[in-house]
Amino acid sequence: MAYAYDDQNIFAKILRGEIPNKTVLETEHTLAFEDIRPQAPVHVLVIPKGAYVTYDHFCEAASDAELVDFNRAVAAVCRQMGVTADAGEGCRFISNAGEHGVQEVPHFHLHVLGGRAMGRMLQ
Ligand code: 5GP
Repeated sequence: MAYAYDDQNIFAKILRGEIPNKTVLETEHTLAFEDIRPQAPVHVLVIPKGAYVTYDHFCEAASDAELVDFNRAVAAVCRQMGVTADAGEGCRFISNAGEHGVQEVPHFHLHVLGGRAMGRMLQ
C-alpha cells in the first residue's frame, strides 16, 4: 500500500490560496495558521507545503530539508505564541492519522494547543 493524496482537501486549497487562513508563520516548506474551530486559547495548525497525508507519511517521504524546516517551524510557532514549557506554561501537540485517529483533513497537520491546562489524556 502507498498513501494517496487528495489534492481537493481543505488544506491543499489553503496552500493554493483558494481559501483564506489566518497565518501565524510561513517558511519555505511549512505553513502555520489558526484553527477555524479553536479548542484552546492557542490552537495553531502546522502543515508541510508538500503533499503528505499523515505524520508517518511525512516522516517516510519528505526530504531532510522539509523535515528540518517543519520541526523548526513548530518550535518557532511555540515561541511566537508563548506556549513553550520553559518561558510559558507548555502546550500539547496532536496529530490525528487515518480512521482510528479520527483525522478529518487528509493533509498532515500538527495541532499546537495551549493557553489552558489540557487534562490528562493517557492513563
Ligand atoms: P483533524 O481532525 O483532521 O486532526 O483536524 C482538522 C482540523 O482542521 C480541525 O481542528 C478543524 O477545526 C480544522 N479545520 C477544518 N477546516 C478548516 C478550515 O477551512 N480552516 C482552518 N483554519 N481550519 C480548518
